Amino acid sequence: MRLIDVHIHPWTRNFMKKNKPIMDACDFFRIPLNYLPSSNRELLEDMDRYGVEVGVILGQNTDSTENPGFKYYTISNEWLYRLSNSSGDRLIPFAGVDPNAGNDAVKELKRALKDLGFRGLKIHSSVHSVYPNDKERMYPLYEICQEYSVPVLLHTGTTGLGRCRIKFSKPEYLDDVCQDFPDLKIIMAHFGWPWSDVAIAIALRSKNVYLDISGWLPRYIPENVVSYINGPLKERFLFGTDYPMIRHGRWVEDFNKTLKNRLKEDVLDRLLYTNAKKLLFT
Ligand SMILES: [Zn+2]
Repeated sequence: MRLIDVHIHPWTRNFMKKNKPIMDACDFFRIPLNYLPSSNRELLEDMDRYGVEVGVILGQNTDSTENPGFKYYTISNEWLYRLSNSSGDRLIPFAGVDPNAGNDAVKELKRALKDLGFRGLKIHSSVHSVYPNDKERMYPLYEICQEYSVPVLLHTGTTGLGRCRIKFSKPEYLDDVCQDFPDLKIIMAHFGWPWSDVAIAIALRSKNVYLDISGWLPRYIPENVVSYINGPLKERFLFGTDYPMIRHGRWVEDFNKTLKNRLKEDVLDRLLYTNAKKLLFT
């Protein structure tokens, strides 16, 4: 099995401990502290051990977001750039910018894509309390992604993170974005559950929409979602873990036991590798 993981948070235990909403998520998913990595070296070790060729590391910036829960949440693009550089091209960075920062966010995104060679943008609408179809705060960022032909990965659906509202992450708002930016590549993280039917409907009518299966142990992925992975959206589903909430060993073990034999043969490699490879490298 060859793998490309499109959804990795380069978080360590100490970083997570500083962030109450992340600790809420650990409680929500019943993840004990000793499961979490103590350094970023463990990420590459996990990837090596389980055949993950490339991983997308996601940035995050809340410097202009007022929610006090997210005061210590920012991971700078500079830091992400260094981590990527030290990985020998194994870790591909997606920029984190704060949509609440206005023109500074636009400038920072351009810098990350142009000067630092980043390959996408990550936004968590609930963290920023901004709707994905917000013309003032989000559309300028989409314009840049479309211009540079890189994907924007948006958190969609519920979240384990505490102290934020899930209404901002409803996939339905992305239908507007698809209509207004027909060439923008969009990844709906976590396939939008509990609104996964809406997320799937949008992907069916918009050819540049992808869905990642991160944040779910394979055994829990709903049967109707599996039928779309096997069927009409087989070129649009992407493997992701949501590391370190689910680490590679746990994911692969569960996958082999519970999902692998439910996938059609020509779908397996697409889901785990080829779809992401095409999206990220062509
Ligand atoms: Zn995530």
